[in-house]
Amino acid sequence: MPNRVRYAPSPTGFLHIGNARTALFNYLFARKTGGQMIVRIEDTDTERNVDTGIENQLSMLKWLGIDWDESIDRPGDYGPYRQLERLDIYQAIAQQLMDQGHAYKCYCTKEELEAEKAAQIARGEDKYHYSRKCLHAPEQDKPYAIRFLVPENQTYTFHDLVKGEVTFKSEDIGDWVMVKQNGIPTYNFACAVDDHFMEITHVLRGEDHITNTPRQMMIYHALGWDVPTYGHMTLIVNQHGKKLSKRDGDIIQFIEQYKNLGYAPEALFNFIALLGFSPGEQELLTPAELIEVFSAEKLSNHPATFDPQKLQFINHQTLKNLDLETFKTYTKPHLEAAGLITDQDEAWVDSLLEVFQERTTYGQEIVPLTESFLNAPFEWDEEMRTLMQEEGVKVLLQTFKDGLDPHHFDPVTLKAWIKESGQKTGAKGKMLFMPLRIATTASMHGPELPKLMHLLGFETILERLEKSLQWVVSS
Ligand code: GLU
Repeated sequence: MPNRVRYAPSPTGFLHIGNARTALFNYLFARKTGGQMIVRIEDTDTERNVDTGIENQLSMLKWLGIDWDESIDRPGDYGPYRQLERLDIYQAIAQQLMDQGHAYKCYCTKEELEAEKAAQIARGEDKYHYSRKCLHAPEQDKPYAIRFLVPENQTYTFHDLVKGEVTFKSEDIGDWVMVKQNGIPTYNFACAVDDHFMEITHVLRGEDHITNTPRQMMIYHALGWDVPTYGHMTLIVNQHGKKLSKRDGDIIQFIEQYKNLGYAPEALFNFIALLGFSPGEQELLTPAELIEVFSAEKLSNHPATFDPQKLQFINHQTLKNLDLETFKTYTKPHLEAAGLITDQDEAWVDSLLEVFQERTTYGQEIVPLTESFLNAPFEWDEEMRTLMQEEGVKVLLQTFKDGLDPHHFDPVTLKAWIKESGQKTGAKGKMLFMPLRIATTASMHGPELPKLMHLLGFETILERLEKSLQWVVSS
């Protein structure tokens, strides 16, 4: 039987980096082992659900390059894949557990439970456990929750794929609510029932769920079901070693934000895969390579540090190696939004992107790069002034300027014209390119000069050459 894993998002908001990691490891595991990946929607916390939560999360998973075999958009044989559509299943199992003496109705009101809790705290008991007041209560015509009757003196031990052997004691867990008064199951109950009926073989999820595992095992044991294999992935921490919190303003944490900033999905995929997984020396890996090298044994037991610089590095490397058309999809929309493309033609955009591709870390960065290039002050330093006083500079600038044609102001023509100006004036090598570069860009280094001239445009170049000539003549 193939491995079956699941990613079980709650539709409570946008796709967070931590959830994306859970989805990604499940995906890698399924694809590596020839297993199946299920996306189950855990929408039982109705107050926290947001309308577009699921569409957004699924579309962001797809954008990242994660796909699945069964879910609400691709039903298989184990549906429905949305928990609120499975209420009759939970109801039947809850009834079975009650009939077998593993669960009971609890008629306590919220106020009664709060008073009970306050009294236990006042007595100095450190952990609140339900008092079992309703364990033998007679049937009543009142709303009720269904509680699981936690067995006495039991230990729950499992071999976690990441943490090794983990044990919990039943005495630390009070009789917990399986079904709320409104008839909706709690997470632990619904999750155990679904994992069983969906024939999930491996449950890979975040470490924050590890204390839920014994509760879920209780359901399995009570019903004689086989317990799946668990793997709880370590925390993601910030660079100060603190658990990454959604309120951590320094770190961008939602996948959509990265998409909007012009990050490449394959770079993000690569970065997220390294949060708690060490493939070895090589860090730049494509999704296919990551599937190839993945193994659950290589999941780290140490907290994974979210290093924004590493993400930038990976993304930079990825963008650098894209063909121009693909690079354009990450950058051009930002140039347009910033109003930097007005009446320029496509060749201008291409030159701009060719010039800056090497330096762009993420798509939106093209905007400040372009702005600082176009708006850079035209000023020479001492070294430039010295060079511009050399012999032959004046005639070179004059010749070059006189032959410029506003109707043929493209990189190819400009390149040929630079060469020809050299031949006409006898200027060669450094003494050909350097004066022209200084006279048009006030810089001694940079990307290809004909492209820069093209980007700055005929008017600006002419104006700068005239200004430079005046200086050369008068100095
Ligand atoms: N719905 C849970 C969450 O979003 C899933 C937990 C699990 O994978 O069991 O955290």
